[in-house]
Amino acid sequence: MSAEGTSVDATTLEIIRAEEEHLAHNYHPLPVVISRGEGVWVTDVEGKRYLDLLSAYSALNFGHGHPALLAVARQQLERLTLTSRAYHNDKLGTFAAALADLAGKDMVLPMNTGAEAVETGIKVARAWGYRVKGIGADAARVIVAGGNFHGRTITIVGFSDDPAARDAFGPYSGGFAQVPFGDAAAIEAAIDENTAAVLLEPIQGEAGVIVPPEGYLRAVREICDRHNVLLIADEIQSGLGRVGETFACDREGVVPDIYLLGKALGGGILPLSAVVANADVLGVIRPGEHGSTFGAIRSPQQSANGLSRCSRRGSSRNAPAHSGSTWRCASPTWSGTGSPPCGSRDCGPASTSLPRSVPGARWPSVSWPAAFSSRTRTARPSGSRRPWSSVPPRSTGRSSS
Ligand code: PLP
Repeated sequence: MSAEGTSVDATTLEIIRAEEEHLAHNYHPLPVVISRGEGVWVTDVEGKRYLDLLSAYSALNFGHGHPALLAVARQQLERLTLTSRAYHNDKLGTFAAALADLAGKDMVLPMNTGAEAVETGIKVARAWGYRVKGIGADAARVIVAGGNFHGRTITIVGFSDDPAARDAFGPYSGGFAQVPFGDAAAIEAAIDENTAAVLLEPIQGEAGVIVPPEGYLRAVREICDRHNVLLIADEIQSGLGRVGETFACDREGVVPDIYLLGKALGGGILPLSAVVANADVLGVIRPGEHGSTFGAIRSPQQSANGLSRCSRRGSSRNAPAHSGSTWRCASPTWSGTGSPPCGSRDCGPASTSLPRSVPGARWPSVSWPAAFSSRTRTARPSGSRRPWSSVPPRSTGRSSS
């Protein structure tokens, strides 16, 4: 039998039919039914094994079922699953401190999905605009880029230029101005006294992996500083090791005012996102103004020591060299044999022993080296940046994240 020209067996077809009948058709998946995942590998219900290069658009940067993450997740689930933010809990502060330190910022506001982090970032920027910058009531504007993808909520699709994302969903909220991605001068021209923030993906993801021209982010940073405008970097897809640096902004030595993080932050286990900024920005939010029932505690990382990451030796502003540390390449596409995608000779398989038998599997460490703090990072040397590049945008809902 066949689904879309691909040969599949009866079990596969039956499962796909059930999905088609009872699941909203908001995606158009490949005719493959995954039932197991281990490291970089997934297995379908027919027993076929695949190398998972999609890795949930970077939500699985640690691979499927990383044993260290599963262990702390189990431990935490048995101890405490959720507290409301009406209480404190014994993990949330530690998690916030570790994540803030990773970003070189003061504070964290945890949420669930990436779209919620973006919504939160916009709220924070508007509140900062009114309470700190002195913008008149309801006049705050946020500048966004053409081709952006920041999620699927009404506000966000309202400033998208992708007809599939927005056309059937108006009316939209105002307060956004769109300029071409990669054009810093267009951002400067669009700024007025009511501009609170510029919101960008440092590398556009859904638009087709668009790397901006070298110097773009630095120029935008300088423009934002000159006009007292916040720079919000949506690193939900590009951040946490995806591009070989902690953040894609690191490629230009740029530090935004607000990092938006998600995807890999939840270890591929739970939806977890965050807004990370300094106290003079995130401190504008007051009790009762924002939150989420589940934005409290349930991440495995909240009980683990933190995230590991990949960074080319000597090329990032974090730095201890790989050798001598437990820190290893966290790329989902690397199984620990051959050359790691980060290009480092020292980025070897983690020593974590595997609790299950997984042929050829190696796991990235999830330890977070003490010396790994953005406060001491240095800019990546120039000459190692990728040039402006672009591949055609994805056109079907199939690949949509
Ligand atoms: N921002 C970027 C850059 C993304 O790529 C995505 C999802 O692909 C989002 C935000 C939205 O994240 P989520 O799907 O978790 O809402």
